[in-house]
This record gives sequence, structure tokens and C-alpha cells, in this order.
Amino acid sequence: MAPVFALVDCNNFYVSCERVFNPGLAGKPVVVLSNNDGCVIARSNEAKAIGIKMGVPLFMVRDLIKTHHVHVYSSNYALYGDMSRRVIEVLMQFSPDVEIYSIDEAFLDLAGFNGNLADYGRSIRATVLTWTGIPVSVGIAGTKTLAKIAGHIAKKSKKADGVLDLTTSSYQRDAALAITDVEEIWGVGRGYAGFLRSVGIKNALELRDAPENLIKKRMGITGLRILRELRGVSCYPLEQGPHSPQEITVSRSFKHPLADAADLSEAVAAYTSRGAEKLRQEHLEANVLAVFLLTDPYGKKDRYFNMKTVRLPFATNDTGELIGYAHSSFDEIYRKGFLYKKAGVIFRELSPDNCTQTSLFADHRKEKSGKIMEAFDSINSRFGRDSIRYAATGTAGDRKWKTVFQWRSPSYTTDWNQLPKVS
Ligand SMILES: [Mg+2]
Repeated sequence: MAPVFALVDCNNFYVSCERVFNPGLAGKPVVVLSNNDGCVIARSNEAKAIGIKMGVPLFMVRDLIKTHHVHVYSSNYALYGDMSRRVIEVLMQFSPDVEIYSIDEAFLDLAGFNGNLADYGRSIRATVLTWTGIPVSVGIAGTKTLAKIAGHIAKKSKKADGVLDLTTSSYQRDAALAITDVEEIWGVGRGYAGFLRSVGIKNALELRDAPENLIKKRMGITGLRILRELRGVSCYPLEQGPHSPQEITVSRSFKHPLADAADLSEAVAAYTSRGAEKLRQEHLEANVLAVFLLTDPYGKKDRYFNMKTVRLPFATNDTGELIGYAHSSFDEIYRKGFLYKKAGVIFRELSPDNCTQTSLFADHRKEKSGKIMEAFDSINSRFGRDSIRYAATGTAGDRKWKTVFQWRSPSYTTDWNQLPKVS
């Protein structure tokens, strides 16, 4: 069965959330600010049109805001998290498997769907709008990377009107790739974009047609995957692929559904721990944490999905602290009697770990936590992942949720204990 993915992306998500509860904002310029009202992190189309740039500090656009009567909101993560939950709930009716990619984006598995995919996309869009009030765009393609490109064009192009299906015409696919700059391709960071441009590859079409060995030599296996995905060969199933630059999500499907709170909370702790490692690797801290649980869509029992988003009292990348918050969110959303298929954690509003505003009292805590985490990471990088870990992530041999990894090939290149053996 050929893979088909839909990327559903909420348009100007935070602004759209504010508009649901304040319809008077329709057609007016609106911006939403980051933590402590520092920077602009969401803009309505009208705010974009008057030249307010993403990420700009508030004080730099004060005049623009005054002249154009821009409506300004502090970020309200409890609201955005809940609206995100509602959107996902609607999306679950359109696909047996949904990947929550970020607060405002989800991938749907549409493999095996017979019917007109573009019509289906339009019905997804209309239903989400009617039931939640949030406008979305839908990109459909045979790989996640192409679906991202389709979604991007669906949002911008008047003709597409929010939905673009790239599965039917290769002519249309080529045209879509040709108008996509390399910087906009999923997983191509700034560094790789610089390299690609230096060898004359400016857009996704040129990258697709580039020689594999050149890309592999300079961009490794990641580059090769991007190239193949652009060629229509699916390399990323749901739950895999580059993470969003603004968020880190760790989510897995269990091999066998789980019912027990103890097993599930172990899985949540383990995903939190993995996410915290990623944060520290990238020298980031999270300000917002979301935990979600999803039941088996094919199961005979009732379906249940819930997600809890909390703003943390201070930005952190400390595994122990994050597990504590993840567990209290888990306790709020876990319901007995369901068979769960998937759990995940999302870290949001990431800030660099060197310039976090801390209170006087938090400084001591931070210093201590930083040293512990440094030791934790260096032991695990030397002796292999999970050489030491938090007890909350479960004891060896008894981690039911872990069975999903049983067919995974060894980490030949990143774990001393799993080096390939020569006999
Ligand atoms: Mg969006």
C-alpha cells in the first residue's frame, strides 16, 4: 500500500485561537507575544502585511503597533494547548493514525484511502473550521517532506484555497518543488542551505535532481533521506523525521496497547527524559510542557484523546524537574478503562539555556541542576544511552511500553555497547 500523508497546519495558530473567542478581531492586525511579552511570536496576515516580522522584540515595533491599531496579546498557553487538543480530536476522525507534530501541526496517515484526496482534504479543513473555529491548510503527498511543501503552498496560494494534493500530477509536483527555496525544505537547516546554495542548488526541484553521492557526502544520511523524500520515496513514517525548530516532541506508538497507569507513566517519564536530553544537546530550555495520551484507533473500546499543556514556573532542561511536571499532567489526563496506543510529550517555547531569566532563588537550583545533568549526559554518552536513568522511567526488563523497539537495529555508531562485531 503506497504511503499517503496529509499535513494539517493551523494558520496563524495563536492569533486564530484569540479570534475564536473574540470575533471582533477578524480582519484586524493582531500579534501574540512570547513569555514576559518580549517578542512577537504570532501574527495575523494583516500584521504581516504592515511589516511586523516574526520574532521581533516588542519595543522595536511600538510605533507600527500604535499607528496601525494592532491588537496585542500575551501568550495564553492554556488556551492554545486546549484548542490544539480540540483540533487533534477532530483530525482523529479522518485518519486511523495521527502524529501530533507540534502545537499547530499534525500528520495524518491516509494510506489506502480510496477516493478523491483533495476533496477529503477540503472536508478536513471545513470540519475543523466548523467545530473548532480554527482555519487550517492541508498538504497531501506520498512523503512527509512533500506533504510539508504541499501544506506550505496550500496556505499561501489563492488558487489552492487551503488544500493541495500533490499525489496526482507529476507536473504539479515539479512546479511545487520549483517554487520552494531550499531553506523552506523540512530538515534543511541554515547550515545545509548555505552549502546547497554554494553548489548552485537553490530550490527543492534542484535538490531532488542532485546527485546522491554529493548530498550524502556533505549532508550524510539526513541529506539522503531528504533527497529521497523529495523523489517520492517515503523514508519517514509517522513519529519520525526532523523536529520543528520551535518545539521538541517525543512520541511513540506502543507495540501492544497499554491500560495500566504505571506502565504509561513510565513511558511518559522515558519520553520526557529523552526530550530533556535533546534540549540539553541543543542548549535549550523549555517554558511550556504538554503531555498527551491516545487510545488505539482500531480498538473495539471507546476512543479517547487528551492533552494537558502547562506553563512551567521557570524554564528548565532538568530531567527530574520535567518528569515531575509531566507526571502531574499525566495524572490529570489518564482515565482508567481505555487501551492506550500512544503517548507523547512536547516541549514548547524553547529558550537558550544561557540567558534564561531566573529569580534570585532559582539561581542556586539551576547551578546544581546544571552540574548533575552534565554528569548524567557524560556518563550516558560514554557508556551508552540509559546507562544511568531516572527510576521513574522503569526498571530493565519490565518496561512493557519499550517492546516497540524490539526490531530496531543496534545503535552501531552511537553506543559503545552496540558496535558491530567482526567475527
Ligand atoms: Mg501553523
